[in-house]
Amino acid sequence: MVVAGRIRNEDIALVRERSSIADVIGEYLQLRSAGGGNLKGLCPFHDEKSPSFNVTPSRGLYFCFGCEAGGDVIKFVQEIEHLTFTESVERLAAQAGIQLRYEEGGGRGPRQDSGQRARLVEAHRAAAEYYAEQLASAAGAPGRAFLSERGFEAADAEHFGVGFAPREWEGLVRHLRGRGFADRDIVAGGLAKEGRRGPMDRFRGRLMWPIRDLSGDVIGFGARRLFEDDDGPKYLNTPESPLFHKSSVLYGADLAKKEIARRRQAVVVEGYTDVMACHLAGVPTAIATCGTAFGDEHIKVLRRLLMDQDEFRGEVIFTFDGDAAGRKAALRAFDDEQKFVSQTFVAVQPDGLDPCDLRIRHGDAAVRDLVASRLPLFEFAVRSAIEQHDLDTVEGRLSALDAAAPVVAAIKDRSRRHMYAVNLDRWLGIMDEQFVLRRVRELANRAHGRAQAGNGRGRPGGDRGQNGNGRGQDGGGRANGSAAENGRNGDAEARAPRRPAFDPSDPEVQRERELLKLAVQRPALLGPAFDEVPVEAFIAPPHAAVRAVLAEAGGVTAAGNVAEWVALLLERAPNDQVRDLVTKLGVEPVRSAQESDDRYAAELLARIQERQLTRMIASVKSKLGRLNPVEAAEEYNRLFGDLVALEQQRRVLRERGLGSQ
Ligand SMILES: [Zn+2]
Repeated sequence: MVVAGRIRNEDIALVRERSSIADVIGEYLQLRSAGGGNLKGLCPFHDEKSPSFNVTPSRGLYFCFGCEAGGDVIKFVQEIEHLTFTESVERLAAQAGIQLRYEEGGGRGPRQDSGQRARLVEAHRAAAEYYAEQLASAAGAPGRAFLSERGFEAADAEHFGVGFAPREWEGLVRHLRGRGFADRDIVAGGLAKEGRRGPMDRFRGRLMWPIRDLSGDVIGFGARRLFEDDDGPKYLNTPESPLFHKSSVLYGADLAKKEIARRRQAVVVEGYTDVMACHLAGVPTAIATCGTAFGDEHIKVLRRLLMDQDEFRGEVIFTFDGDAAGRKAALRAFDDEQKFVSQTFVAVQPDGLDPCDLRIRHGDAAVRDLVASRLPLFEFAVRSAIEQHDLDTVEGRLSALDAAAPVVAAIKDRSRRHMYAVNLDRWLGIMDEQFVLRRVRELANRAHGRAQAGNGRGRPGGDRGQNGNGRGQDGGGRANGSAAENGRNGDAEARAPRRPAFDPSDPEVQRERELLKLAVQRPALLGPAFDEVPVEAFIAPPHAAVRAVLAEAGGVTAAGNVAEWVALLLERAPNDQVRDLVTKLGVEPVRSAQESDDRYAAELLARIQERQLTRMIASVKSKLGRLNPVEAAEEYNRLFGDLVALEQQRRVLRERGLGSQ
């Protein structure tokens, strides 16, 4: 979660207040009335046929009972548009016509100068328009020819915003100056570079692809050489700038992000024309890196797009044109985090055609087939290792085994490794599973021994991938073993399911939950008596955590307007888990009793108070039992007085007929 820090809190609150959650969500799905002022619709975050996605406008919350997605209007925009917290606030503010103010001197961070970012974004928008106009002009004929040779029509170019940079020294610079942009910004954004006589256009005589961030703002350009006498590189990109960071930019992601999330699939291709060809051929999840190899930062962006709650699900499919370099790149990916690798696939066109050429020669269906023919990266790697060997001879099969077994042995997930070993036997035609398994196990053990003994490849915590779900990391202070322990023993331990310390179906736990729902939804019903119930009175740890948040926020007596109250609680929540629970509690209907809500609230509260009193009485009694009434007379009498008072309180509760029993 991004710290809200830089934008002033009052402004964030104002954005929340002025952005109608029903209107904002209504842009993405049909909402119908569900009674009581609540709305319902089909969840945009998971596939469903009957609506379990609830919106509660009075509290400014949404929650899906199917997939448990939930939060406030800012969270919704974050999730659906894949933006950061700040970006979501900025977008909502723009829609609501709110001028945001930023905290001064808030330390480091990319938005030191939010004014400059806005100016650079404007300059890029203007530049993209200029290039697009140039492509349509007489001068743009070579650009249009390039596109049509590759099977793209004018409408396709328009869809992707493709343009043409004329062969002029300062065509764009003049244009931007005319629009009031300062030379300083034009240069800082990488649109021009400093020449002897002032700034001159960076891109000249090139076909231009605007590169957008996830929110659709143009942040840079990719430029293809068009003329013979251009001695620059074939592709030229915007240099690193305050807007453009090539290590994390994915071309086409603004267009692809919704389909990537929906289909849980991303197709990584190599060039701008490949992205266009894929999208036009019915593979709308295609993206490409911009002038750099696919790296860790790109993985993070894809994770965000494919993220489902805490889990990273879905497929990342790389298309390589089957050449040695592509293969190498795929195999190198093997060394990266295996959690990611296990969801990585490779689609290779046997005749080495990239998606753009494939579409020209064989049509749209061939591009879709290419993607559909993907192989898991593990399988691709194993098959690549086998390929050079002659499987018709015994010697050939054995040397293929020696080449492929280390690849299989490198798979960290034990069951997956076993499966590939069994497959390897089949692929090689050895027909002796045990023999192949032994060979793989030998190599795996040897590799493991190396890692154990020294620091073979120096990868701290490299075995963590075995836990499979990556959750072992925050598994609650379990990371205390020595490095050696971390290997085999830690593995088994981390695998044991964590049992909750409470039973959610326990009626006492359910009462707690009901009471907390009221505290979130209708704080006025509860009053000061609730604020006096201590955190320890709640059996379920998640409930105790919410109780602590309520106290942090000043207690139910401090609650004013309910929407603000909920926003405050969400803000005070220490982590996403507690935040999700607060959201859930804010949306879940109260299992209201037949009688009045007042009475229901009083009963729940009394029951918890009584429980707490009983616990305290037991504790005082046990202390009394350990004291000598003569030797420790003073303390004994004090405790005895406490006991009487507690018993008295409990009797009052029971006499009011509120406490059950
Ligand atoms: Zn859902």
